[in-house]
Amino acid sequence: MAHQITLIPGDGIGPEVTDAAVEVINASGVDVDWDVQHAGKAVIDTDGSPMPGRVIESIRRNKVALKGPVTTPVGYGFRSVNVTLRTELDLYALLRPCRHYPGVRTRHPGTDLVVVRENTEDLYAGVEFEAFSVENQKLRDYLRFFRGYHLTPDTGITVKPISLSATRRIVRFAFEYSKREGRKKVTVGHKANIMKFSDGPFVQIAREIAQEFPEIDFDEMQLDELAFWLVSDPQEMDVLLLPNLYGDIISDLCAGLIGGLGVAPGVNLGDTAAVFEPTHGSAPDIAGKGLANPAGILLSGVMMLRHIGEHEAANRIESSIAAVFFSGEHLTGDLGGSAGTADFTRAVIARI
Ligand code: ATP
Repeated sequence: MAHQITLIPGDGIGPEVTDAAVEVINASGVDVDWDVQHAGKAVIDTDGSPMPGRVIESIRRNKVALKGPVTTPVGYGFRSVNVTLRTELDLYALLRPCRHYPGVRTRHPGTDLVVVRENTEDLYAGVEFEAFSVENQKLRDYLRFFRGYHLTPDTGITVKPISLSATRRIVRFAFEYSKREGRKKVTVGHKANIMKFSDGPFVQIAREIAQEFPEIDFDEMQLDELAFWLVSDPQEMDVLLLPNLYGDIISDLCAGLIGGLGVAPGVNLGDTAAVFEPTHGSAPDIAGKGLANPAGILLSGVMMLRHIGEHEAANRIESSIAAVFFSGEHLTGDLGGSAGTADFTRAVIARI
């Protein structure tokens, strides 16, 4: 029976790279019934929102989606489309494997790590108080009266909520994932020395849950130290467990370690739905030119096929992507080659 999968082409280079992914997955012989759902700038006039309810409903129904980058138009007052998706579907874990494939230029060959990012809280929760606003003044008055903090009226405030329950959920997810995938070590990144009541419990809970997984090493690092180690010796790292904001920044850094944004895959996971998408955004500078590297979404597609039990096809596609990288003949511009999206895709399909 065909797999029902939601396909969101998205904005910018999204449609080009999702087309490539559909071609490759179809060529692998896996039977997929693609439920195409447009989102982003193009649907605002017809649907009244860049992330309409029908898209969310489709993912709820199918439980699996493959998604291109969808941008949130600035200045229209829309909530971030990605935050909407994550909140509506409770996609609490963002998993970004960063594995170097031979043939892709990098200063760090042999890097093979995974970023596990908490996806719902932290400074991205959207709890904000604009400078000079009435709400901001009330909050500042409260802080002065009850805690003696003096903040000037021109101070904008963003709140960093980190709950014990969401932390337990992501920490458990990271350890269970590591166990299932045969990973050896989980390193938690934090600034608990400064943010005692948000990063503090994040590390403490990680320490506690680590004891239930004696087969997996546990390490904790200040985020600045982690950044240093990542650009010095990333081969020593295995699974990185991070709160939302640090996870966002560190995953782009890790994409840089393995050859760039064009090759980095990912998935947003919840208990009932999974949305697979590359780490890169819409890359408006190269959109519509046929130059985008589709490897990030192709490798996201490989993760998706494993998620739905199509391991053999996933292995075949991953091997052919690795072979194209290794041959060096059909690399896109971001990897130092001169091939376009279609050349790379054709080369992958030829090797499946
Ligand atoms: P957004 O605002 O949607 O995040 P952005 O342009 O700020 O978009 P990205 O799209 O993530 O950020 O990427 C930054 C740059 O990296 C792009 O402008 C592009 O030059 C390059 N890039 C990203 N993805 C790819 C890709 N798949 N293939 C080739 N180059 C890419």
